[in-house]
Parts: sequence; C-alpha cells; structure tokens
Amino acid sequence: MDGLVKPPRKVLVEAGLEDGELVRCLRSTLPRADFRVLEKISDRSSFDPEVLEVVDFRGRFLKSCPGTRHYHCCGYQILHFGIQCTLGCSYCILQAYLNQPNLQIFGNWEALFTEIEEKLRAQPSRLHRIGTGEFTDSLLLDPWTGFSRRLVSFFARQPNAVLELKTKTNHVGNLRGLDHRRRTIAAWSLNAPYIRGREETAAASLRARLEAARACARWGYPLAFHFDPLVEYPRWKDGYARILDRLLDSADPGQIVWISLGCFRFMPSLRSAVLARHPRSGVLLGEFVRGLDGKMRYFRDIRVEMYSFMVERIRKADPGLCVYLCMEGEDIWREVFGFQPGEKGGLPAMLDRAARERTGIEDGASQKNP
Ligand code: SF4
Repeated sequence: MDGLVKPPRKVLVEAGLEDGELVRCLRSTLPRADFRVLEKISDRSSFDPEVLEVVDFRGRFLKSCPGTRHYHCCGYQILHFGIQCTLGCSYCILQAYLNQPNLQIFGNWEALFTEIEEKLRAQPSRLHRIGTGEFTDSLLLDPWTGFSRRLVSFFARQPNAVLELKTKTNHVGNLRGLDHRRRTIAAWSLNAPYIRGREETAAASLRARLEAARACARWGYPLAFHFDPLVEYPRWKDGYARILDRLLDSADPGQIVWISLGCFRFMPSLRSAVLARHPRSGVLLGEFVRGLDGKMRYFRDIRVEMYSFMVERIRKADPGLCVYLCMEGEDIWREVFGFQPGEKGGLPAMLDRAARERTGIEDGASQKNP
C-alpha cells in the first residue's frame, strides 16, 4: 500500500506520555524524526504539516454525532482520538471551526479505552455504533501510530459494539491479519472523479481507495461507503454514475453494511476559508438556501434529484442494501425512499439492523437506542 502523506518530521510529546504505547510505536516507525518532550504543547503553535503533536487529552473521548432536532440523525457515537487533517479537502468543515493548526493525536490511550469500556458496560443492551474520523481522517496517521491495531483488537472483544473506520486514504496495511471478528467496518468516502480531482487533491485516488477496500474485503472486513458531500456540477450524473459503477464492480454489495448520502452543506462561516484557501474550488458555485440548522444547502429539488439518482442505481445492485441520508428531514426521505425513518423504528434502529445483519453481530444487544 503506498503512503499518501509525508511521515511527520518532528514529534512534540507532552510530558508524561513519553513512555506510553503510542510514543513507543512512533519512535519505532519514525526513526529519523526529531522527538521533543514538552511540559505543555501550546495551542497557538504555527502550522507545520510535518509536525505531529502527542497530547494528553482531558475531555471526553466519546461524543454523540452532532445531529439536530430538525433532521434525522444516525445516532452514531464519535470516538475523538485526534484533531486536524493534512489532506486539505476544499469543503472540509475543520477549516471553519478548529483553532488548532497542527496534527494532534491523543496519547493517553489507556484513558480512552477505559472510557469506551465503561460506556459499553453501562448500556449493555444497546448496540453501540462508534466511528472515528469526525475531527481527522481515521487512518491518516495509522502507518506510524498503529492505532487501528489497538482499536480493532479492542472492538473484536466487545459484544455490543461495532467500530467504523472512515477514510480517504489507502492506509490499511495495519488491518491485515487482525482477528477483527467483523466488529470493525472499513469505510471510505467517495466522490465523483471530477470532484476528487478538483476538491480532494491530496486524498488517495479513487482507484487507490477502491483497491484498499478490496483488500479489506479479502481480509474479511465488512465495508461501508459515504458519498458526502455530493456536489452538484454540470455533469454530476455522469460522474456519480461512474464512481458508483466502479464501486459496485469492486465490492460485493453483500459485504457493504451501509452507504450514506449527503449533499454538500456548510456553515456560512466556512465560505471565507474556502475562498481564501481554495480559490480554484467550485463547491460554492451552486445556489444555496439556509436550512433549519443554519447550514447552507442546495434547494430541495436538487437534493431530491441527486439522492434519487444515487438510490436508484444502488438499489439495482442490491435492493436490500441499507442506504441512508445524512441530516435530512422527513419530507426528503419520503420523496426519495417512499417512507420516512420513523416508519421503520427510526434511523438509529435501521442502522442497528443493518449492522447486525451484515456484520453477523449476534449478541443480546437490543434494538433500543436512547
Ligand atoms: S479527509 Fe476529511 S478530515 Fe481530511 S481534509 Fe478531507 S474532509 Fe477534512
């Protein structure tokens, strides 16, 4: 598997973490890096893409997906293990709301795993769907941190949880040979080739992402795919048809747990960051309306047309495959699917069922979600 990003050249470590598992791993995978131990890492450091900061995180590692009451939320839990991403997608939300410029990974892994274990034990009858990759890419730094090996092994032992690792890289080498017990879903964000070439220039090629997905499927991992953001541009139907065809040629639909769809949306504060950092980007060229959550979205007819186009093609390949919309309301669901999630027990219950059916998880985790 070819690497995407340059290995960190300098690693700043907060005092107390220098003998931990993460730093030991980094020392062996980055033998030429300059390691420095600091009492405290300043959050005012200047941006350097080759610096990695290992910090002692004192907040909560598990957070609920930031859904709003206006739209159907998937009931996902986010495992917060690091911050920032150097892939620099033009539409990335992180540009708008993170003050922290450098790549950071939390080095207090024992506290992280203790918190997850406590959460899973406190709600033993619930199926917990947990994903990394909200504040960084799940596998961006994995060749050096080896974090996926710890995560996958941990989740393999949990009776009531599945982990989703979502990435735009092909950094899957560490997933090979693990006893994952199908509790980890390997997931990729995909887009039309035109959008990948224009808006995701530093992410892995679509070919590399699909090759990595095929490798994970060979190693027995369930797969998932996310088309988010779907971007409207003049030949969007051709572009999204091409990537869907390539995906469905590459992966056995029966191994796919779910596919999510989400049209491009953004907080108004993202606009200035996109214009300043990505002057050639076309993502802001569409016409937008402000949604109930304050985000700018395409008009509903455009959203319905894009979703319906995708759903129809996916359904042809596998009528039973779980496809869901990210942050959309009942009317859009009904127009696209002919039902709204409440009729199927709610979106979290739909995703729980898909996870159970396609990962083979067969514990006593109930259908209930809070
Ligand atoms: S890969 Fe994800 S986290 Fe990284 S820049 Fe792109 S959108 Fe942001």
